[in-house]
Amino acid sequence: MLHLVLAAASWQGARPVASPRSLRSCAIRQCAVGPLPGSFVVPKVDEVAARLKKEADTGHVPFNPVAEADFVAETLFVARRHDANEGPYIQAVQEVAESLAPLFVREPHYFYLFKTMLEPERMIQFRVPWIDDKGRTRVNRGWRVQWSSALGPYKGGMRFHATVTSGVIKFLGFEQTFKNALTGMSLGSGKGGSDFNPKGKSEAEIMRFCQSFMTALAPHIGPNRDVPAGDIGVGAKEIGYMYGQYKRLKQGEFEGVLTGKDPAWGGSLIRPEATGYGCVYFARAALEAHGQHIAGKRALVSGSGNVAQFTAKKLLALGAKVLTFSDSEGTVHEPDGFTEEQLAQLVAVKQKRGGRVSEYARLSPTAVFLDGERPWSIAADIAFPSATQNEIDDADGAALVANGVVGVFEGANMPSTPEAIARFEERGVIFGPAKASNAGGVAVSGMEMAQNAQRVSWDAETVDRELQAVMTRIHGECHAAAVEYGFGGNLKAGANIAGFKRVADALRDQGAV
Ligand code: NAP
Repeated sequence: MLHLVLAAASWQGARPVASPRSLRSCAIRQCAVGPLPGSFVVPKVDEVAARLKKEADTGHVPFNPVAEADFVAETLFVARRHDANEGPYIQAVQEVAESLAPLFVREPHYFYLFKTMLEPERMIQFRVPWIDDKGRTRVNRGWRVQWSSALGPYKGGMRFHATVTSGVIKFLGFEQTFKNALTGMSLGSGKGGSDFNPKGKSEAEIMRFCQSFMTALAPHIGPNRDVPAGDIGVGAKEIGYMYGQYKRLKQGEFEGVLTGKDPAWGGSLIRPEATGYGCVYFARAALEAHGQHIAGKRALVSGSGNVAQFTAKKLLALGAKVLTFSDSEGTVHEPDGFTEEQLAQLVAVKQKRGGRVSEYARLSPTAVFLDGERPWSIAADIAFPSATQNEIDDADGAALVANGVVGVFEGANMPSTPEAIARFEERGVIFGPAKASNAGGVAVSGMEMAQNAQRVSWDAETVDRELQAVMTRIHGECHAAAVEYGFGGNLKAGANIAGFKRVADALRDQGAV
C-alpha cells in the first residue's frame, strides 16, 4: 500500500512530509477530497459510489489493497450525499475518518457503526421570533441537534453567534459525540444554537430572545433527555434567562435541565472555569509525558471569553507567561506577560456586554494592540486557541512552527485547519485536539447533573480534583489508543479512536437504532 501512496504523493508534488503516517494521511486527504486532477483520484470516488450501491443491493463491501483510503473516501461519499454544503461538518468528518481508517481495516464491523454515527438521531430547526426595543418583530433561526443517546442523555452547549449555520451545529454535535465519550461519563451528545447576534443588543432584547428560544426548545429537552449548556454567546446570564423560561413553561418544576447554572440555584462550582482549567490540565499531562513543564513557558491565548479567561488564569497559577488575548477585532499583546492584576482588568472589560480587547489595550501602558490580527505570529512556546473554528490556518500554523512552539492545545472547537494540523504533526509539535483538551467543560457539566440529581453541592476542591483526574485520564487514553493503532503519540488520532470505540460499542450492544 505504501508504494501506491508514495507514488501518489510524489505525483501530486505535495509538500514534503516526514513520516509514513503523516504521508499516508496527506495522501488520503487529497485522494478523498478529490481536488486534484488525474487518473488516481477521480475514478476513486466513482468506484466508491458503485461499491456503495453494491453494498445496498447485496450487503457486501469488497475491500481493496488501498483499504485505508477507501474507508475515508467512502465516509466522505456518505457524508456528502446529504450534507455536501455543510463545510465545517464535512471537515470534521474527514479528520475523524482518517484517524479511524486503521481501526476499520482491522475490525471492519466498526465501519458500519461509524456510518450510522454520521447521521444524527434527530435535528430540530425552529423559528425564534422576538421583539426588539423599538417594538419591531425580529426573527432568527434556532437549531438543536441530538446526535447520539448511546451513552446517556444528549448533552452539549448552545451557541448564539451570527456565523451559526446548520453546518456549524452539525460539526459541533458530531465532535461532541467523541468528546463526551472520552469523559467516561454517562453522556450522549447534542449541540444547538442560533444565528442570533448578541452584539449590540440590549439586556432586555437578549432576555426576550432567550425566552423565545427556550419556548421553542423546551418540548425537546429534559434532565433525562437532553441537557443543553453554554458556548459562544451563551454564558451564565443567558443560561439564567433560558432556565427561568423553562421553569415557567413547566409550571415551576425545578429540574436540572441546563448546566452552567449559577451555583445559587443548582449550578456546580468550577463549571465556569472547567473548560479553560481542563485544557491546561490536559496540556500539563501532555507536556509532562514529553519531559516538559508549563512553568516558565510563554503562552499565546486567543479569544477573550469564558474559555480564554480561565485558561489564562490557570496558566498564570502554574507559572506560565500569558502573552495575548484576542477577539474578532484584533489581538492584545503584553510583551512581558499579563500579571494577575492585568488579567483581572481584562476580565472586567470583557464582563461589560460588548467589551473589546482594544479597550484593555488603551488602559495598559505596556500593551500593544494588533488591529485585525490573530496572535499566532508572536514568538511563544505553547498556544491555546480559544476563540472559534478554523482560527489557525496554514500560514498561522507555519508561523507557530517557525517560532518553535512545542505544544498547541485546543480550547475552542476545531480551531486548527487540517493544513495547520499537518504542519504540527510534521514538526512533532504536541497537539491536543479539542475533543480531548476541551472536554473539561462537559465533564463538570456531567458532575453538575449528578449533583442536581442528588440535590447536593460539591465543594470547589472536590470538583477541581475530579476535573484534574478526568483530564489526566483522557490524555492517557488518547495516548494509549494512538499507540495501539500505529499513530505513535498522535493525540488527535488517539482521541478519535478512543472516543469512537466507546460510542460504537454501545451502539452495537443496543442494536440498529
Ligand atoms: P465566549 O465566552 O462567547 O467567547 C468567545 C470568544 O471568541 C470571544 O472573545 C469572541 O470575540 C471570540 N470569537 C468568536 N467568534 C470569533 C470569530 N469568528 N473570530 C474571532 N474571534 C471570535 O465563548 P467561549 O465559551 O469562551 O467559547 C470559545 C470556544 O470554546 C468556542 O469554540 C466553543 O465552542 C469552545 N468551547 C467552549 C466551552 C465552554 O464551556 N464555554 C466548552 C468547550 C468548548 P468577539 O467577542 O469579538 O466575538
